[in-house]
Amino acid sequence: MIRADSVRTPWIIAAAALLAAGAAPARAEGGRTLLRWGGEEMPIPYYIERGGAGDILDGSDIEAIQSAFQTWEHVATGRVEFQFAGLIDAAAEEEIASVVMWLDEEWPYDSSFVAKTRLSYDPRDGRILRAEILLNGRDYRWSTDGDSGALDVQNVATHEVGHFIGLRDSAAGGQAMFEYILLGETGKRYLSDADIDGVRANYPLAGRDGRGEIALRVLRAGAAAGEHPTGIPAERFTGICALGPARGPGQAAAVVSARDGEVAVSVIGPGGEAAGEYAIPAVPVHPGRIRAVSALDVAGDGIRSAIAALARAPEGLDVWIATTGRSIRLPVRGAEDVTAFAPLPPGEPPFGDAVAVAGKRRSGDVFVSIVRPRADAAGGITLEPLRSWSVPGSSGVRGIAVADRVDGGSEIVLLSRTPAGGFELLSWLPPFSAFPLDGRPFQPDARAAAAALTAGGNPLGIAAVHGGSPAIIVPVAR
Ligand SMILES: [Zn+2]
Repeated sequence: MIRADSVRTPWIIAAAALLAAGAAPARAEGGRTLLRWGGEEMPIPYYIERGGAGDILDGSDIEAIQSAFQTWEHVATGRVEFQFAGLIDAAAEEEIASVVMWLDEEWPYDSSFVAKTRLSYDPRDGRILRAEILLNGRDYRWSTDGDSGALDVQNVATHEVGHFIGLRDSAAGGQAMFEYILLGETGKRYLSDADIDGVRANYPLAGRDGRGEIALRVLRAGAAAGEHPTGIPAERFTGICALGPARGPGQAAAVVSARDGEVAVSVIGPGGEAAGEYAIPAVPVHPGRIRAVSALDVAGDGIRSAIAALARAPEGLDVWIATTGRSIRLPVRGAEDVTAFAPLPPGEPPFGDAVAVAGKRRSGDVFVSIVRPRADAAGGITLEPLRSWSVPGSSGVRGIAVADRVDGGSEIVLLSRTPAGGFELLSWLPPFSAFPLDGRPFQPDARAAAAALTAGGNPLGIAAVHGGSPAIIVPVAR
């Protein structure tokens, strides 16, 4: 008999079973095979077997698996991207690419294994060719609602997706890759700093040698793309964490980068020139957790030069103000993740001097909230929540842009990822309407962020990280 409050027997999650095509597997230094997907494979497509978990009938099991893949994709200092390719029948799974499926009747492993990830790879170089995540539906109940007597789908799937990208089990507790699991556990939904470092090591954002200079690619509709050096040497950084709009005079984009645990924000002008750099001292968060950067008028004095970085801390969501090093907690109730934020135009009712925040709730809903920063009597900052909306049909908002309209007003545009892995623009206000980006001359990758390029009434631009380099794309005619 198992009592939910006294489960102490851990179940082993299997280390990845390696199905090599040849006899002699490749060996990395130290004698261990380094398994990874090639950069040209990104985004990595995966299917989910249509039946899902036998215990779950509302589709939340399918959504929980997608959330697990996105958790690894969101590591800001690494570059791994997935594309949900759709639901598939069990009979067809052997013919296609990677798949996630529950086995409800026959489980080929010991019943102590709750899941198993099998990898096929090229034995010559360790390149992963196909992955198969098997979940044990024969011996365990599964849930998505915190049932203390069942396995949490996202919790287990996040661990297995780590194997999917070549990571190994960890013997240290508190990590998503820890090799033991409990019923009702949800802690593996969130990556530890060690998990994040694993992604960064296997999938570095700026190339393995880290050489060269970070260039800003400026693409404009009807004109050739231009490369503009920024003066930021790439070897200084472990990765580009985020890219966002900077609303100061002549500023086009802000890039957050990281090096040896330090975080810096570089502001880049519209021609690609370096326009300033802010160190963020003693940021109490791993750079890989930083989600977005933006200019933020926290003092309400109209000064637009303060740069904020937003990150997911283990205990919640925090904003750091680059110019002061102060940190404040973002009071977005029930949010599991925040993926973008942007200041709204000053003084414009009803949300003047406020900040738009986008993220995902624990329920899986994508939301946009409006919050207003206020200086308090003690010299700190509080954020007052004003309104919140859900964004239907989106798997995540990657950027918020405040764009000038021809009539002199402004509007908010969201850069949103579709469940199928593409991107679309969603216009303010609710109900949101979609403008698919498919067929545009430039397709931002999973690290895309939206930025408003409003100088002189220019059309909306999208700031994105593409192939490890920041880019500003201005092809979006409306
Ligand atoms: Zn494992």
